[in-house]
Amino acid sequence: MVYYKTDEEIELLRQSNLVVCKALALVGSMIRPGISGAEIDKAAEELIRDHGASPSFKGYQGFPGSLCVSVNDQVVHGIPTKDQIFEDGDIISVDCGAYLNGFHGDSAFTFPVGEVSEEVMELCRVTNTSLYKAVDAAVVGNRLGDIGFVVQQYVEREYSYGIVRELVGHGIGKELHEAPEVPNYGKRGRGAKLKHGLVIAIEPMVNLGRKEVRTEQDGWTVYAKDRQPSAHYEHSVAVLKTGTITLSDHSLIEEELEKNENVQFVGVKAEMA
Ligand code: MG
Ligand code: MG
Repeated sequence: MVYYKTDEEIELLRQSNLVVCKALALVGSMIRPGISGAEIDKAAEELIRDHGASPSFKGYQGFPGSLCVSVNDQVVHGIPTKDQIFEDGDIISVDCGAYLNGFHGDSAFTFPVGEVSEEVMELCRVTNTSLYKAVDAAVVGNRLGDIGFVVQQYVEREYSYGIVRELVGHGIGKELHEAPEVPNYGKRGRGAKLKHGLVIAIEPMVNLGRKEVRTEQDGWTVYAKDRQPSAHYEHSVAVLKTGTITLSDHSLIEEELEKNENVQFVGVKAEMA
C-alpha cells in the first residue's frame, strides 16, 4: 500500500533529509586517504543526534552502523569499521538515513578518495547524472517504469555499465522502506502511475562491469560479482502536481567537496541545472 503524503508530512521529510545531507556533507569534508569507515560513521552519528534525530540504519534488521560505507567493488550495505581504511584511488559509497519527527530521510553519495582513475571517475559522474535524469522523470502522470527506463537507457545503452537489479529504490515516510519499489531499469509507460503526494527514494547502483552482485559472509555487504568498482547516488523526492521537489540537498555535499583537496569534484547538479 502506498501512503501519499500531505504538505505537512513532506515538510517533515524535507527536515529529515536536511539532517541526512548535513551528515553526508560532514563526511565529504572528512574524506581523505588514511581515514576509516568507523571515523566517518561516528562523526555522522554525532551530527544526526546533535540535530535531535536518530540514525535510521543503526539497528535496522540488526545493522551495526549509522552509515552504510561501501568501498570500490562493494555496491551497498557495507559495514563501517576501523579496519576499513580509505586509500588513494578508492571510491567510497556512503548511504545515510535519519529519523526525525516521525519521518525518515535517506540519501547516498559516492566519494572519490585522492586521485581516482578517469575510468572510475566517469562511472561516478554517469551514475550521479543518471540520478538527476531519474528525478526529472519522476513527475505526476509518468509511471514507475519511466524512471527505470531513463536510468537504464543512459547507463546501460550509452555507457555499457551494469545496473544492479536485486536492489531498488523505494517509497519513504514513517517507514524507511515503503511501497512502491523503484527499480533502476524498466520499460517506458509501464508500472504504477506517479500521483501527487508520492515520496520515493531513487537510488541507481551502477557497476563498472557486469550487473551481477553477491553478498559477503557478514550477511550485509553487497559486492559486484566481477569485483569491479560500483557507484551509488540517492535522492529522496516528493512528486507533486506543482512539480517534483528534491528533498535531499546534495549542494551541501558538493560545497564541502569543492573545499576538500583530497577529493576530486564529482558533483553534477550545477551542470544539470
Ligand atoms: Mg539510502
Ligand atoms: Mg534508500
